[in-house]
Amino acid sequence: MCPVYDLHTHTTASDGQLSPEELVIQARACGIDVLAVTDHDTTSGIAQAVDEAQRQNIKLLPGIELSVSWRDKDFHIVGLDIDPDNKALKKSIQKTRVLREERAIEIGKRLGESGVANAYHEAREIAGDHTLTRSHFARVLIKQGFAKDTREVFRKYLIHNKPGFVKTKWIRMDDGIKLIKDSGGVTILAHPMRYHITASWLRRFLVAFKESGGNGIEVVTGSSTADEIRMAASHAERFKLMGSAGSDFHGFDDSWIKLGQLAGMPKSITPVWEHWSA
Ligand SMILES: [Zn+2]
Ligand SMILES: [Zn+2]
Repeated sequence: MCPVYDLHTHTTASDGQLSPEELVIQARACGIDVLAVTDHDTTSGIAQAVDEAQRQNIKLLPGIELSVSWRDKDFHIVGLDIDPDNKALKKSIQKTRVLREERAIEIGKRLGESGVANAYHEAREIAGDHTLTRSHFARVLIKQGFAKDTREVFRKYLIHNKPGFVKTKWIRMDDGIKLIKDSGGVTILAHPMRYHITASWLRRFLVAFKESGGNGIEVVTGSSTADEIRMAASHAERFKLMGSAGSDFHGFDDSWIKLGQLAGMPKSITPVWEHWSA
């Protein structure tokens, strides 16, 4: 039987709800053979995940999900099988951490102006001393009754042109790719169908991504419809990119996204795992 892969997951090191150990234990219980931990702009959960993966006898790929900017638009690039101790990567993570903190304070201020009390402090309390993301703000807004679920919060408050959106200057896309490659990793465009951009902009991005050394694209994600898988697969074929499969699991509150329960990779696509078995 083919091994079961989930190459995009989050822990409490960023905005996931399970600790790295809990995530690995759950992954084992869900029948996953190869798991990548890919927290937002941090590798601080990797060491614990690696230790637990040894105990659970499951293969763990150290990873990261970098926020990057390209032509004034934001994208997420997943790095798989990276060296979390790479110096340049660690330095960049530290810089982004400062950026994220500044952004979080500004989001809190703007939400305050639209009537959400104490958002920064409550989000910070949920995140502890880990990376603060918009998902933490989403939980605060749900708790305070401003929306019923994460999707609604993002749609009403946290995306472009909404009261809690703050434009952030992330690292450049080509610099992000270089960082991951220099750390020994493979670069994957995360959830290609979730950027609220037109198909032609996505194609333009993919040209630049490929030219900068991008390796693959998530063809199968935890929220992909059959149509979205077909579209992502056609992008992979057109730009000669490998296909990756990752749930983007954050925890059990996101009831529509399940750990490791992913649709199969279309036959026409070269899966990224061939890269490791070659
Ligand atoms: Zn993402
Ligand atoms: Zn993610």
